[in-house]
Amino acid sequence: METLYAVIDEKNPDMEQIKKAGEIIKKGGLVAFPTETVYGLGGDALNPESSKKIYAAKGRPSDNPLIVHISRMEDLYRIADPVPELAVKLAEAFWPGPLTMILKKKSIVPEETTGGLETVAVRFPSHPAARLFIEAAGGFVAAPSANISGKPSPTLASHVKEDMEGRIEMILDGGAVGIGVESTIVDLTDKEPVILRPGYVTKEMLTKVAGQVEVDRTILQGDAAGKPKAPGMKYRHYAPKGDLTIVEGKQEDVIREINRLCAEKKAAGEKTGIIATEKTAELYAADSIKNAGDREKEETIAQNLYRILREFDEEGITVIYSEAFPADGIGQAVMNRLLKAAGHHKIMV
Ligand code: AMP
Ligand code: MG
Repeated sequence: METLYAVIDEKNPDMEQIKKAGEIIKKGGLVAFPTETVYGLGGDALNPESSKKIYAAKGRPSDNPLIVHISRMEDLYRIADPVPELAVKLAEAFWPGPLTMILKKKSIVPEETTGGLETVAVRFPSHPAARLFIEAAGGFVAAPSANISGKPSPTLASHVKEDMEGRIEMILDGGAVGIGVESTIVDLTDKEPVILRPGYVTKEMLTKVAGQVEVDRTILQGDAAGKPKAPGMKYRHYAPKGDLTIVEGKQEDVIREINRLCAEKKAAGEKTGIIATEKTAELYAADSIKNAGDREKEETIAQNLYRILREFDEEGITVIYSEAFPADGIGQAVMNRLLKAAGHHKIMV
């Protein structure tokens, strides 16, 4: 299949191309599109055949449900019932934006889209091109991240091209995404709201609006903690090809230990990579040293993380060490993704 490619300027979007992308979705095809979190791989959420195609294009297990993207608040009522008062409050506070809510689904949403579940994940993204595209596509776009299952989520259109060229009808290139990690997922089908996946919208932000908010206990621990409630969280996600280990401790100890481990691995014939930060990058020795951003501004690390993991793959890095980051605010999402990428392999020094 030939994959069409269109660059979309956020400030002056080419409506011709957006319309073309919408028509592809309406006809049952797939289009990758930018959002404020990561690139999504979209299909018609109300068409079971489209959802099957999404799973096939990603190589994703079909028990791992998709998020339905809408572009108008009122469309929530067409796919979810009941819509509790809390969902409306959260929508008022965080939509459009990087928050996904789990609600009971209406029968119009096929089980192919929800991985057989009676609930549906809904998000109203803020990215202007995403909103125009969803509208052009008929209002309900099922979209997981636009990567091959198991690879880091795409934060640039070139990542999407690498994974999806020839597998989907079209790619909308909106440049680098703003946030860089996937949306926060909050389950509203229990008595208390539960965060199933941390993201840009933090527990503290949700608590201000919702009062009590729980965090699924599998989030920052390994699989040993139990079965995650978001089916997707049980798969080894976000994984680079190289063997990734997180090293945590006092900064000078971390630097010394990572340098020691890299020297040892290099001597054993491995190609070594390090995820460092602005202030530490020049203190390391390895084949590839990445500056992930400013430790004091963790949103910069969120923006860079997936790109760095993909670059290590391109460079053929076989062993990777990363500094650890404080797990507060967006840092919780960063550490959650990093721990998953590392298969929960962390050493303390
Ligand atoms: P991705 O689209 O790659 O960001 O992955 C979507 C995530 O949302 C996966 O981790 C899914 O397991 C989760 N998800 C989607 N729908 C539901 C649902 N109805 N209940 C719980 N988790 C869901
Ligand atoms: Mg994903």
